[in-house]
Amino acid sequence: MMTSKPFRVAVGRLYHESNRLNPQPATEEQFEIERGELVLNASGSTLAGIVTELQGEAMILPTLSVAAPPSGLIDDDFYQRVAQEFLDEIERLQPDAVVLDLHGAGATTRLADLEGDLLFRLRALVGPAVPVGIGLDLHAHLTDAMLRNTDVCIACKENPHSDVVECGAKAARLILQTLRGSLFPVTTSARVPMILPGAGETASGPLGEIHAKARAFQNAFPEVLDVSIYNVFRYADDHHIGQVVTVMTNRPEPISAKIAKDLAGDFWRYRERFEDELLSIDEAFLRVRNEARERPYVMADMGDRILAGAPGDSVILLSAVLDEFADLRGALTITDPASARAAIAAGVGSVVTMKVGGQITPGFRPREVTGKVLHVSDGNFTLAGPFHGGEESSLGETAVLLIDDRIYLILTSKPAFSHDPAVFTSQGIDIGGLDFVIVKSGYHFTMNFAGIATPLLVSTPGVGYYRKGAFTYEKSRFWPEHAVDQPEINVAIYGGVRMVTDEECKAA
Ligand SMILES: [Zn+2]
Repeated sequence: MMTSKPFRVAVGRLYHESNRLNPQPATEEQFEIERGELVLNASGSTLAGIVTELQGEAMILPTLSVAAPPSGLIDDDFYQRVAQEFLDEIERLQPDAVVLDLHGAGATTRLADLEGDLLFRLRALVGPAVPVGIGLDLHAHLTDAMLRNTDVCIACKENPHSDVVECGAKAARLILQTLRGSLFPVTTSARVPMILPGAGETASGPLGEIHAKARAFQNAFPEVLDVSIYNVFRYADDHHIGQVVTVMTNRPEPISAKIAKDLAGDFWRYRERFEDELLSIDEAFLRVRNEARERPYVMADMGDRILAGAPGDSVILLSAVLDEFADLRGALTITDPASARAAIAAGVGSVVTMKVGGQITPGFRPREVTGKVLHVSDGNFTLAGPFHGGEESSLGETAVLLIDDRIYLILTSKPAFSHDPAVFTSQGIDIGGLDFVIVKSGYHFTMNFAGIATPLLVSTPGVGYYRKGAFTYEKSRFWPEHAVDQPEINVAIYGGVRMVTDEECKAA
């Protein structure tokens, strides 16, 4: 029920997963930017959950929504402009509280912790009495600065992320309770210096067991309001990279440190079990050839995962199918703005020979192809979902080449959200008539292709898949990249607007 003087809650979104190994910075043109009332049109996202939850309970004050597909580090000048515009809006609006949809693995060409910077500046502006809540992706690189400068800091619980709307709604609900004075949020974090080399799905394997245990803790201890378990982003290089568990309670509760330490300890105990079962390139295409009943297949190009910030320019699977599997029909995307433009200039119906892809990821090479230009477009489309369903996305200027009458190559100017079938259907491609499609996603595509195609995870090179020793780390130290013996699990308590005393810290 709306009170006579409703709370005024500012909302916004800054959503980008920034892969420092992708040499192309994420610039302004790659971002969808909404201002004012348009911010509230969000669907299928954490922000959508925030807005829905606040409706009827508060006066919603939109600020900015800035989002792009995962890619390289954000151009710092662009981030600084966006951050300043957001902070100026907050200063003008003077809200009672702020709730934001942030990814949590944002970084710029200058800052390793974008969210920490933004929240530090937000807290400095609004002071300690204005509650700040954030709903994060569970691949956040959760930092001390993020926890220190928020009252409510929670992540979605599922990978693939089927519950982002719920996460936003929960963050907003907890902030409303804080505003009403019925909640004094306290968050306890436990960090262990390791990453998950694989097995990142939350519904199965060792991670499934840890999440089940977290749910059991919540059922057993009603004072526990949230347990968030972070998968961590391994394409960052920052201090204290590691698996994090956070436990939120109303006022300090001794049980929270026990739960956080217990779950963080499980990560270490189970560490050798976090492995993906990937097929080699040959194994994957042989499966497509030999097990025809399961067609169409959707093959995940793990090394070139755009959803992990890789450029999407790999031609390795394209070359394999062109050179060795001449009987198979399929479709894939490749990020290559120059080739897309050249194909568009040649025009629909013309036959072109060009070198495609392989120009962004270090170590990749382009591939020469000859194909007929079938279709050209501005690349705008709507994601079918359920992950981010209904959201507008863009491939930039896009051309479809038909190679050897059997391979549909979608040349995009922007990295494509190919985890969604609409990338293909929006370009006139009938997935059902093919043997396979290739997507640059490792987990989320299984949700959006459910009932459409059979998933296969394929081991491929690139900057979108962690392999021990493949990338350089200067600031981070973590297992399995570095030798870590018995790790220390670091516990910290954050009290948000309510300062936590030294005694309470010691008691935990
Ligand atoms: Zn994620």
